[in-house]
Amino acid sequence: MFNTLSDRLSASFKRLRGKGVLTEHDVDETVSDIRRALLDADVALPVVRSFTKQVREKAYGAARSEALNPGQQVVKIVNDELIEILGGAERELNFATKGPTVMMLAGLQGAGKTTLAGKLGQWLRTEHDKRVLLVAADLQRPNAVTQLQVVGERAGVDVWAPEPGNGIGDPVEVARTGRDHAITNGYGVVIVDTAGRLGVDTEMMEQARAIREAIDPHEVLFVLDAMVGQDAVQTSVAFRDGVGFTGVVLSKLDGDARGGAALSVRGVTGAPVLFASTGEGLGDFERFHPDRMASRILDMGDILTLIETAEKAYTEDEAKDLQSKLAQGKFTLEDFLTQLNQIRKMGSMKKLLGMLPGAGQMREALDNFDESQITRIEAIVHSMTPAERADPSILNGSRRARIARGSGTTVQEINSLVKRFEDARRMMQSMSRNGGALPSMGGGG
Ligand code: GDP
Repeated sequence: MFNTLSDRLSASFKRLRGKGVLTEHDVDETVSDIRRALLDADVALPVVRSFTKQVREKAYGAARSEALNPGQQVVKIVNDELIEILGGAERELNFATKGPTVMMLAGLQGAGKTTLAGKLGQWLRTEHDKRVLLVAADLQRPNAVTQLQVVGERAGVDVWAPEPGNGIGDPVEVARTGRDHAITNGYGVVIVDTAGRLGVDTEMMEQARAIREAIDPHEVLFVLDAMVGQDAVQTSVAFRDGVGFTGVVLSKLDGDARGGAALSVRGVTGAPVLFASTGEGLGDFERFHPDRMASRILDMGDILTLIETAEKAYTEDEAKDLQSKLAQGKFTLEDFLTQLNQIRKMGSMKKLLGMLPGAGQMREALDNFDESQITRIEAIVHSMTPAERADPSILNGSRRARIARGSGTTVQEINSLVKRFEDARRMMQSMSRNGGALPSMGGGG
């Protein structure tokens, strides 16, 4: 996420490292680096101007106060300012106090609205215990209705689609009848998916506005593809003026977005970013936290999100059980297999490792990380007998050869897995004895 921007900012801070004091000249140089980095990341000019102005003033202040550790001071100033332009404090969704909460999704075609409808539906159902109805008011794109039905089924929520009597052919009628259906049937939330075009056009805007007027939603979420670069500002402004929205969802943040859309949209439209979409799967969806995002951009990691993801995958009892096995050195290959499955539930390994502080410096390793490696490891452990999984020390040459044949791998791979497992088990045991503290991760703030 925002790799180039991260690298450029890190490079400009490097210059300040080891400096005893900060001069105004240092500040000017750093600010001008930051300015270029932001512009190259397609951040909107007015946002860049106000950002650099703030950073310059505060950094001059730090220079005058002859503060210690100028490098860190500047990183902190930039971090604070990034949080500010990303929206400052978080905002919760507006839920209706009576009757269903009505949400409408708007955005260009391909922005990720239909996918988001499923993600939001699943999230509201599982995290907020809401009964959710998705409404298929995108009648422009062939297959949009079927796609929403598929997504709804996967998310475990109901879908209202146009049929005779449900306003077939007229998106405004479909939206209205869908909302009414939600009211009479006691749904907690109704999410209306609307049509988008490849570019902004007046007909689409009028239709979206008519839907908004017909259903009077509590939230209008504008879905913005983070990969679009410079067009983001223009599109956002067109939707703000044409339809109006109460919040933004940034999609495709898993891709190689430069950051411009994410960093500009709040400043340009005044609407907060509420969610981030980070993949094609229904679970690839997060609340948007400006402070965590700033931290990721500055390569300081996102430990909070990592912990939350882990908490979702592990119950408290599972975590305790694991901890005690690790501490007593009783962790077996069988347990290891279970852990691999748990981690799989948390999403891709790459994504998880990417949330660690300093991930930017191991980007190449991350990019080359081969998820299929995990499948091979699983195959190896599956080919072992329960006794072998419990005690790998009984693995002699002929057992290893048998496992290699059974798993379609090589004896070398078995050897390396067993060795790494034993090393890891020893390390985790000694870590658990030291109160479970992680080894120093270095870097960061
Ligand atoms: P809509 O036209 O706005 O409804 O967009 P869709 O929901 O159909 O999404 C368009 C394409 O983008 C689909 O292929 C989705 O799978 C994909 N997509 C949606 N959200 C994300 C995301 O967060 N990350 C990635 N990588 N792809 C996404």
